[in-house]
Amino acid sequence: MSFDTLGLSPALLRAIAEQQYTEPTPVQAAAIPVVLAGRDVMAGAQTGTGKTAAFTLPLLEHLYMRHARATGAPRRPRALILTPTRELAAQVQDSVRTYGKHVGAKSLTIFGGVGMNPQIDALRRGVDIVVATPGRLLDHMQQRSVDLSAIEVLVLDEADRMLDMGFLPQMKRVLAALPAQRQTLLFSATFSTEIKALAAQFMHAPDEIQVARPNSVAATVSHRVHPVDAEAKRDLLLYLLEADAAQTLVFCRTKHGSDKLAKQLDKAGLRAAAIHGNKSQNQRTRALADFKSGRVGILVATDIAARGLDIDQLPRVINFDLPMVAEDYVHRIGRTGRAGAEGLAVSLVSHAEEGLLRDIRKLLKQDIAIEDVPGFEPARPLRLDGPGGSGGPRQPRNGSPQARRPHAQQSRNNGGEHAAGNQKRRRRRSGRPAAVKS
Ligand code: AMP
Repeated sequence: MSFDTLGLSPALLRAIAEQQYTEPTPVQAAAIPVVLAGRDVMAGAQTGTGKTAAFTLPLLEHLYMRHARATGAPRRPRALILTPTRELAAQVQDSVRTYGKHVGAKSLTIFGGVGMNPQIDALRRGVDIVVATPGRLLDHMQQRSVDLSAIEVLVLDEADRMLDMGFLPQMKRVLAALPAQRQTLLFSATFSTEIKALAAQFMHAPDEIQVARPNSVAATVSHRVHPVDAEAKRDLLLYLLEADAAQTLVFCRTKHGSDKLAKQLDKAGLRAAAIHGNKSQNQRTRALADFKSGRVGILVATDIAARGLDIDQLPRVINFDLPMVAEDYVHRIGRTGRAGAEGLAVSLVSHAEEGLLRDIRKLLKQDIAIEDVPGFEPARPLRLDGPGGSGGPRQPRNGSPQARRPHAQQSRNNGGEHAAGNQKRRRRRSGRPAAVKS
């Protein structure tokens, strides 16, 4: 199938061709015509499958081609895209700019952690598309610096997160300020039945689009679990990062934990940065930009980085801690294996996390290879029986245990030999920057 058959105008097709997309992804092929027909849509698609273009392209077609603003009419926001994180908002706006290059799209991101005045000024000058996180949008609503009365299209990206308990009170206030007569589009990798029921309350007979099994992960991602005692996790992580210098996103459960781990990795000579909600927006932006450009090889993150972020060719995600909610595993590992590339999802699992792993396997409905890393085997094996699986294929990784343990000790000691290893690692890393695409 080609993009030409979807009903998009030449100006948009040109922008698509410039991205060298040859054909629509399944979610684009399914969603674009339905969105163009003006229907409400609830679309479930795996992360990394082109969801952003699936809503941005028909949105641009609607705003600039089919229902263009009359010349001289005031420019008020006509489309609102809400995302759960600032980073995702910035990334979505990048896509709006990329795809809207030849239609004169005027967009603005609204999120916290940065000054409010430039946003107020931009709103005053006039924009068509607002990409926002709910908190700062509410600040603008309170100050009456944003007028949402002309919104024609509302998009909730990562919709399940936008409608969970954490965001729901804010979302209700935003929804109340929007015209009832509008098109509403929900996009997410995962949708629970509760969220679907909730969404149905503010949507008009939505078309449901599901291009893959709900809550499934891209087939291009290989999953691997390394059982390990909690206190040996850090050494195992160092060992894995040393053994393979591939660029890696490491997920930690807490802000404090990610800070501590990033510092420890940095001290061990690995170029690591941390990103989480307690960092300033400047620090967050820099950490992500450095990681995307390859200046930093390891990004240690909380679940703030789990959703939607598009890091081109990211080869590996490591869960230092398993997420408390199984769905977040799907989001986290969705950062790798994107756009058809191969990806590796590694989880370091201690006894305390057996139940979480069982939940993840139950959700994925697939076995995850359990691999002991010689020298790091836990004192007693993980118990993975019960709901969700029989334990999965269990195999040791190659290599002699004797060779591994001392290595782990070295990491701990951070001694002279280790420093030489760091030099080598730095060289290996610098040869493999990852490109950014957004
Ligand atoms: P998303 O799921 O929207 O984050 O997109 C994931 C990645 O797929 C992004 O890097 C997009 O640039 C890329 N992409 C989107 N649509 C296509 C397409 N039709 N062909 C090839 N790559 C695409």
